[in-house]
Amino acid sequence: MAIIGECFCGQVQYRIDGTLRDARSCHCSRCRKAFSSQASAYALVDPADFSWLSGEELLTSYASEQGFGLQFCKLCGSTLCGIYNDEVHGVTLGCLNGDPDVELGRHIYVGSKASWEVIATGVPQYIEDAE
Ligand SMILES: [Zn+2]
Ligand SMILES: [Zn+2]
Repeated sequence: MAIIGECFCGQVQYRIDGTLRDARSCHCSRCRKAFSSQASAYALVDPADFSWLSGEELLTSYASEQGFGLQFCKLCGSTLCGIYNDEVHGVTLGCLNGDPDVELGRHIYVGSKASWEVIATGVPQYIEDAE
């Protein structure tokens, strides 16, 4: 069954005909800003499995690093996916509908987490990255 994701206002929708890989949560200061949250929640997707269903014209993007960027709905501001060299690289877990059959496998950059965050135990934590 396809995995469906959509933004907060519902105008932008995508489907993934495949599985999500390497779901992780990054607690670095950059991800906190980019995701407006205590951490990112993000998984990788094979670009060949990904397609926009609606609202692609409402996307806007921000390049955060060389070749890497994030795409947002310009109506509601949801961060939908990450792109690398203009191809979809991964999706934000918060915009997925239902049960996408994936779990966070690791918390990374916990060494720079926000002072106010209390990280739940049970998932491996890494001061920086796991690799
Ligand atoms: Zn939207
Ligand atoms: Zn990060």
